[in-house]
Amino acid sequence: MTTGNTGPAPGGPGGLNPPAFGQASGPGGLTPPASAHGQPAIELRGISKSFGAVRANEDISFSVPKGTIHGIIGENGAGKSTLMSILYGFYRADQGEILIHGLPTALPDSQAAIRAGIGMVFQHFKLVQNFTVLENIILGAEDGPLLGRSLRRARDSLTALAREYELDVDPDALVEDLSVGHQQRVEILKALYRNADILILDEPTGVLTPAEADHLFRILRGLRDQGKTILLITHKLREIMETTDNVSVMRRGRLVGSVRTSETSPAALAELMVGRKVLLETGKAPARPGPVLLSAELLTLRDEHKVERLKSVSLDLRAGEILGIAGVAGNGQSELLSILGGMTRPGEKVTGRLTLGGHDLPLTGRGSDGKSRREAGIGHVPEDRHHAGLILDFTAWENTALGYDDDPAYQRGLLTDNQAIRDDTRRKMQVWDIRPPIHTLAAKSFSGGNQQKLVIAREFEQDPAILLIGQPTRGVDIGAIEFIHKQIIALRDQGKAILLISVELDEIMSLSDRIAVMFDGRIIGIRDPATTSESEIGCLMAGIAPTAEAS
Ligand code: ADP
Ligand code: MG
Repeated sequence: MTTGNTGPAPGGPGGLNPPAFGQASGPGGLTPPASAHGQPAIELRGISKSFGAVRANEDISFSVPKGTIHGIIGENGAGKSTLMSILYGFYRADQGEILIHGLPTALPDSQAAIRAGIGMVFQHFKLVQNFTVLENIILGAEDGPLLGRSLRRARDSLTALAREYELDVDPDALVEDLSVGHQQRVEILKALYRNADILILDEPTGVLTPAEADHLFRILRGLRDQGKTILLITHKLREIMETTDNVSVMRRGRLVGSVRTSETSPAALAELMVGRKVLLETGKAPARPGPVLLSAELLTLRDEHKVERLKSVSLDLRAGEILGIAGVAGNGQSELLSILGGMTRPGEKVTGRLTLGGHDLPLTGRGSDGKSRREAGIGHVPEDRHHAGLILDFTAWENTALGYDDDPAYQRGLLTDNQAIRDDTRRKMQVWDIRPPIHTLAAKSFSGGNQQKLVIAREFEQDPAILLIGQPTRGVDIGAIEFIHKQIIALRDQGKAILLISVELDEIMSLSDRIAVMFDGRIIGIRDPATTSESEIGCLMAGIAPTAEAS
């Protein structure tokens, strides 16, 4: 998959067009946006940080004007979180200088960052679940015992903050009763309560529905308009385009460009991230669906606590189509995939009916395991490649035969033919561009994207009639995403029946021929991507069914 290396030469941002405004004083540097005045809120000068041999950040310099939303994008492992952790005092830079509002500022720990007015909205919220919103917000921010008077004062200022920034949450609600979107608002309020005027959000929308994400961005724009400075880390190009004023692109620990959002495009940003041109559209032909291959009727799964995780789900999967399952994580998608792929756990109880080409497939006991499913012609790229797709301590070549050790191609007489498996692995590594192409390396030594390619190469090349694909591009770089998407479409065009589960709505929208949306363990609607919209799917994902079902 070597397309012409048209990307910009690696190295400093100096060779880029448009020029970086990071070097604020340099000739040709962009003037900061009109909303800013005086010193930049943040200026990074030559920040470097290594973990052992890994150079996570290398000579990073840019500045963020006050009162702007600054996006930071880059592939997995580009060094975004490391840089933000330095800014929040979690890590200390090996080299470089940080200026906050023009003053060189040491950030040895997060207390120092908070004192400097920097607030971090964590990806995995650090809230105490059985405390109220108010208790969580004042926790650690107030000295001494919480007397009635200080509590009342805290409540008043919280209410004022919430009103000012449209962050409506009930101060007396228990955090455990709040949706993920509301918990995130509590995190933001917590930072504002500590007088943060610089907010860092690291991949904040991974856990949100599209509507919740839109609400978050409205809040962020409101905060910006009130003079706050926001650093938004995301790998989603659309969020960068819609929300930020400026964007810095990181690649392999380096800053490869800082541009004004209004002067760039998703394609240009993708190219900067990857270092070569990337096709963002799949350009797939219309589906030509054939007969129903897999049919599920009223599948229900109760977990070991007898809680219904999957509730009477029925669906048909046809040859030559990609049926996408959209939904916020945790709404039954994983349970559906585990039943179909034969990966339910002991203690889980499954009822309903599953047929393949008209023949019943067992849902429990003998013949309901993953190996039997694969023998029946159902390939499976599990959602969680670390636990279900690979044995991390085994080598790449051992993982190639995982679940397929009975394959005649891997047998010689009655024995397993290890040499045949090794040869096949070497060939797959070449075809699928798996790096490094060392078949004796342990699976855990590959990056996420290359681990995923190991699993996908194994499952796709078995040529199953039906493929279950869970989160195919989670943690995978944009270049590899493009490649994986092409392979999925190619399989569909060969007539395979494909069930695709993904929490990335963009992925579902661009690949699926039909979209089923799951909410609270049920399929709440099935839509045609040609006639639906992201907002309609988003409503369904939030459990709002706008019209009577006509599926
Ligand atoms: P991003 O957030 O852009 O995905 P990170 O900043 O998390 O990237 O990681 C940058 C690089 O630094 C990666 O190669 C990662 O494996 C490495 N890295 C990050 N944190 C640590 C750590 N605590 N110890 C060792 N290596 C780390
Ligand atoms: Mg990160």
